[in-house]
Amino acid sequence: MNVCIVGAGYVGLSTAVGFAEHGHRIACIDIDQKRINDINSGICPIFEPGMEEALKRSIGKGLLKATPDLKAAIASSDVIFISVPTPCDENGKMNTRFIDRASKDIASLLDGYKVIVVKSTVLPGATETIVKGNLEATGKIYGRDFGLCMNPEFLREGHALEDFLKPDRIVIGSSDKKAGDVVEKLYNGFSAPILRTGIKTAEMIKYASNSFLATKITFANEMGNICKLLGIDVYKVMEGVGMDRRINPHFLRAGCGFGGSCFVKDVSALLNKGRELGHEPRLLDAVLKVNAEQRKRMVHQLKARTELKGRRIAVLGLAFNPDTDDVRESAAIDTVQGLLEHGASVVVYDPKAMDNFRRLFPNLIYSESAKEALKDADACIIATDWDEFRKLDSKDFSGMKGNIIIEGRRTLDKSKVPHVDGVCW
Ligand code: NAD
Repeated sequence: MNVCIVGAGYVGLSTAVGFAEHGHRIACIDIDQKRINDINSGICPIFEPGMEEALKRSIGKGLLKATPDLKAAIASSDVIFISVPTPCDENGKMNTRFIDRASKDIASLLDGYKVIVVKSTVLPGATETIVKGNLEATGKIYGRDFGLCMNPEFLREGHALEDFLKPDRIVIGSSDKKAGDVVEKLYNGFSAPILRTGIKTAEMIKYASNSFLATKITFANEMGNICKLLGIDVYKVMEGVGMDRRINPHFLRAGCGFGGSCFVKDVSALLNKGRELGHEPRLLDAVLKVNAEQRKRMVHQLKARTELKGRRIAVLGLAFNPDTDDVRESAAIDTVQGLLEHGASVVVYDPKAMDNFRRLFPNLIYSESAKEALKDADACIIATDWDEFRKLDSKDFSGMKGNIIIEGRRTLDKSKVPHVDGVCW
């Protein structure tokens, strides 16, 4: 099938490359010309394992191209995906300006029946009020000139292509069978159960999933905080807890709080939606508050052990998770901010996320390696569990001036670095 994907970020590009792997012909649209040039040159604009190789493969087969020409891309497509950002405003509410702009652009150029699919995460009702509303505002008739689906994405950054190609489930929300069938056909060859729902239900499944995962990890963190005071290893506890089939072992790794582009904004958007509707979502509110506290813990822990003013503190790991260059809502942001507020001099290193972090904090000391960052440091904080850091042993830390090492994710091997202190273990 011919597919147009509007917004070529983590989700849009994974969708594009994933569908091209299944033989579909893809046109990626983005408003960022550099991104378009990079994609067409086979350069992946984001770091994702396996993505650049797959991108080159798709381009080589003539199955994928990027273009700013939305009109031509729409004209040659059967299905149009929208995968633009849906960030949160300062008040925690979903900001709809990107989805509004993208759907207005599509509406003004639509020429004959196409299925529009919202892949961005949007609150229940948004697909119909914003996207359908913008299409109808140009005189297009639903069912005759366009079909509409909501197809939430569940991929994890760092595993984006793998997760897109091997999802646990594919949710297709539609209010007319014809449009839903087109999208189902697109996923032919994927070996995952397909759940057909209404549009609002599909939108809510994504928010409920992210809220549940954020709650689960927050629960593990809270258990970790109590276990640390009791001198119990929370990882052993969660191993035992996760053996229960009703619970499962995933998302029980206690640490310095969740980050990333989705959990904070999606839980916050749902919390505010609940309030707007007259319901106070106490659990979601607690999850965000506990998480915000958790992300500050490493600095508090360090401050309890040493003076920070004028000290050189190394922060290893800037991405919110390993295997990604994404720093949105990463624990390193709160950590670095806290260290700077206490007057520390901060030296940082990350295998892939330095350029993105530099845009937020241009004035830190950026090192070329973990070893270089550690040299002469008074203390070290590990905020991301990159594999590269797992291999560090005490001789890698021997260049430090001090000997405090605090990790926010269980990363180091305690038998090789005995004096490491975990955030909640
Ligand atoms: P992103 O910021 O990585 O990419 C968005 C892209 O859209 C950018 O390249 C931007 O230039 C482009 N864009 C913005 N407005 C545009 C327009 N009018 N026309 C064309 N291009 C436009 O965002 P992302 O992380 O891929 O997230 C996209 C959506 O998917 C969000 O709603 C997010 O919540 C959801 N989602 C993200 C993830 C994830 O792990 N990143 C997972 C599941 C769902």
